Amino acid sequence: MLKVSRKAGGEPEIFHSIQGEGVSMGKPSVFLRLATCNLACRWCDTKYTWDWQNFDYRTEVVELAPEDVERRITPYDCKHVVVTGGEPMLQQTELEPLLESLAADGYSFEVETNGTLIPQPAMLSHIGQWNVSPKLRTSGNPEEQREVPLALETFAQMANAYFKFVVSVESDLDEICALSDRYSLAPERVLLMPEGRTPDSLARKSSWLTEACVRLGFRFATRLHILLWGDERGR
Ligand code: SF4
Repeated sequence: MLKVSRKAGGEPEIFHSIQGEGVSMGKPSVFLRLATCNLACRWCDTKYTWDWQNFDYRTEVVELAPEDVERRITPYDCKHVVVTGGEPMLQQTELEPLLESLAADGYSFEVETNGTLIPQPAMLSHIGQWNVSPKLRTSGNPEEQREVPLALETFAQMANAYFKFVVSVESDLDEICALSDRYSLAPERVLLMPEGRTPDSLARKSSWLTEACVRLGFRFATRLHILLWGDERGR
């Protein structure tokens, strides 16, 4: 069974929209949001997927068989699926039959992950693009939890992995440069994205962040879905 997040109305958070972040920003996609996470970022904007101190698991999560998830994906006129979370790699074993079945029908996939879990062979064969978002000190997670060297080394060696850093403050940049050096991340596969849940907060950080990208050779990325719809769930 897959633990799927629910929309505000209680339906599983499976929806058709455009990719709001990263290198495929703007691409029409079906989103599948899986619940639970192995980290606890201070600024997480999907705490309803994992923070059971403040959210009720039974209200926020529905457990569905892969074929039920597939039945909710296939009616959309779109054969590209973004698997997001929470941390979807916690459910990679449960995801396999869904990915296999959809792949046989011509679907392509990208996964949003925090980069702390090593992909299994079935995931490697099905996922066309990895959006890896390593967490920094300002996320509030202990270092040994947020940086798992073997996992990051694995992703760093994959040509279809992009590294998307959420930047809260200018001092995050030194940490990103150090990580980038440590794992030999190709600058053209590193994206810096301002942290923020409102268009105003994104705008405040975007000017100095674009300048930093020009200086450091990284790519700038914004959060298109926040600019379009704010912090609304299921868009
Ligand atoms: S890794 Fe992602 S889902 Fe998990 S707490 Fe951090 S931002 Fe939220």
